[in-house]
Amino acid sequence: MAEQKNIVVCIKQVPDAAEVKVNPQTGTLIREGVPSMINPFDLHALEAALQLRETLGEGKVIALSMGPPQAEQALRDAIALGAQEAVLLTHKAFAGSDTLATSYALAKAIQRLSAKIVLCGKQAIDGDTSQVGPEVAELLNIPHVAYVRKIRQVSWERIVVERLMEEGYDVVASSLPVLLTVVKELNEPRPPSLRGKMAAKRASIPHWGPQDIEASEEKLGLRGSPTQVKKVFAPQARGERRMLEGSPEQQVEALIQALKEMKCL
Ligand SMILES: Cc1cc2nc3c(=O)[nH]c(=O)nc-3n(C[C@H](O)[C@H](O)[C@H](O)COP(=O)(O)OP(=O)(O)OC[C@H]3O[C@@H](n4cnc5c(N)ncnc54)[C@H](O)[C@@H]3O)c2cc1C
Repeated sequence: MAEQKNIVVCIKQVPDAAEVKVNPQTGTLIREGVPSMINPFDLHALEAALQLRETLGEGKVIALSMGPPQAEQALRDAIALGAQEAVLLTHKAFAGSDTLATSYALAKAIQRLSAKIVLCGKQAIDGDTSQVGPEVAELLNIPHVAYVRKIRQVSWERIVVERLMEEGYDVVASSLPVLLTVVKELNEPRPPSLRGKMAAKRASIPHWGPQDIEASEEKLGLRGSPTQVKKVFAPQARGERRMLEGSPEQQVEALIQALKEMKCL
């Protein structure tokens, strides 16, 4: 059988950050009626996958998401942007999964998809933990490089990337299969094409449950989640806020004046 040359991109559907509200009584996120979008970092991961495929001249880009049935829209958007296929992990057994249980489910699906390269965003803008990429790599027992800002060289055997560090960057080489988490400096995501939009409309996106990925249900959902969210709350606004208006020069003047009044200068 010919070797599978799949590039899997993990796509998380997140609420539009500007719209997120917390229910003050229950402390849970209000998701109803809130518009959703592809996690912004995952758009850069998808763009990297498309460019890798173009460089390598072959292979299939598959978008993978775990979430409720409506997360299918994020996958259709990924197809409109150029992914050839998409798979949604959705089942009640996945509900309530923490990052470890989420990573376990994604890793099992990636195993079934025989990925040579796995791409993730550096973090999701709602959960924000940055744990999922490295956890998936550990569960797959493959190397990972986090915070990739440039891909220097790639073949189906080896990849050389630049990893963003606090001061500068590291050059890291890895064998394949490999998992990369990417930062927005890596590329500029392309807009959806008309052809992509048509493909997205027509695409049939399989929904997989635990049995499809041979996952053990004890490792999924709340049962498989060693961490628990004790409380979710919107932090209280502290101190006074003053908006400065006028031209940049006037705002600088006003800021200096305000800092002097506060005895900060
Ligand atoms: C105890 C507990 C219970 C939870 N219950 C729920 C719940 O009921 N419903 C719920 O929606 N969330 C729930 N969460 C949150 C959920 O576990 C996280 O959103 C999820 O694990 C991803 O973590 P993150 O958002 O920090 O992603 P990060 O680790 O910051 O994401 C990094 C990258 O990983 C990939 N990625 C992350 N999540 C997914 C995904 N789902 N599909 C595809 N790719 C992904 C993306 O490429 C992303 O850019 C729960 C968390 C805990 C701790």
